[in-house]
Amino acid sequence: MTTKTSYVSKSVEKLKPSGIRKFFDLAAGMEGVISLGVGEPDFVTSWTVREAAILSLEQGYTSYTANAGLFDLRKRIADYMNSRYQLFYDPSDEIIVTVGASQALDISLRALVDQGDEVIIVEPGFVSYVPLVELAGGVAVTVKTRPENGFNLTAEELEAAITDKTKAILLCSPNNPTGSVLEKDDLMELADVIKRHDLAVLSDEIYSELAYDADHVSIASLEGMRERTIVINGFSKGFAMTGWRLGYICAPVEIAQALLKIHQYAMMCASTPAQFAAIEALDKGMEDVTEMKRSYRHRRHYFVDSLNEIGLECHTPGGAFYAFPSIRKTGLSSEEFAERLLLEEKVAVVPGNVFGKGGEGFVRCSYASSMEQLQEAVKRLKRFVENHSN
Ligand code: PMP
Repeated sequence: MTTKTSYVSKSVEKLKPSGIRKFFDLAAGMEGVISLGVGEPDFVTSWTVREAAILSLEQGYTSYTANAGLFDLRKRIADYMNSRYQLFYDPSDEIIVTVGASQALDISLRALVDQGDEVIIVEPGFVSYVPLVELAGGVAVTVKTRPENGFNLTAEELEAAITDKTKAILLCSPNNPTGSVLEKDDLMELADVIKRHDLAVLSDEIYSELAYDADHVSIASLEGMRERTIVINGFSKGFAMTGWRLGYICAPVEIAQALLKIHQYAMMCASTPAQFAAIEALDKGMEDVTEMKRSYRHRRHYFVDSLNEIGLECHTPGGAFYAFPSIRKTGLSSEEFAERLLLEEKVAVVPGNVFGKGGEGFVRCSYASSMEQLQEAVKRLKRFVENHSN
């Protein structure tokens, strides 16, 4: 029986489904597809990490943990932040273990945003940002970055987007989908503007372990930034642990405790076996992380060079595992390119327009695929570009 009213809230009804899913669904029904569409590592989590979770289950650790996460894990995260960035967070009240960086983003936005507050979002950017701002009752102010600047936000572009309603800015480096990295000088220029306007920062650092050309810099480590920054990170990408759903937040105590209020009511705590696994990942998993990073770097070289050779102009992405080539040469729109490439050559990529302003005219290709698959994908892409060059 149908009901007379729709029970779905207006704010949710307004949300559009993610543009990425559409292509997955299309590709799922086809055989022989090479997928460069998915945003996850092609490695299985290190055995020692998996074993730690198995052991925790054997030992009967099947209850909830503290709301903020196992203290031992928070302590390791504090040590990691300290040794990597010389940033000190108190594991007792400034670190919260979350269900992926996704939940960290959600509760951070809900904790910061009052109805109508503006949050600056850099685009092309991760597809969840705008919907999460809107679900938190905020207004997403999107700023387009340009390939000439390596898709990095400039201080002038930031300044121009700020109004008296701006509460926060969300930064992501290395970036999904462009792979761009904000280096220390870029961050310092942005930090000056941020401090002058007294804004909060959500710093999505989920790809921090995958910065290839320069050491990753956390904006929180710059002068006057720690007190206004929520650092969001997790185990999904660098540690190849997407399915474990484990992330974390480091924030000054006042903000961290506000976040914890939402987390304790909405989630209780992150998965217990995953938290045991993450302790092991930080204790013994770093060598594997370095090895995986080396492998991605090697594939980045091959894939980005090949794209440029076949006429799909592509800047060298400094991090993550995405190439974001221009498809201008083909005269097709991003959607047309992705759809025809899938139907004609069975290669799945994600059209750039789903990542917001500045994404049209580009596609996102993940190079977290085997070399054989990448070589075959390049062959097919070459043929496709030849057939569609005007
Ligand atoms: N931020 C960015 C930029 C991402 O690309 C992703 C995953 N695609 C996430 C956050 C979410 O990561 P997690 O698996 O930790 O929820």
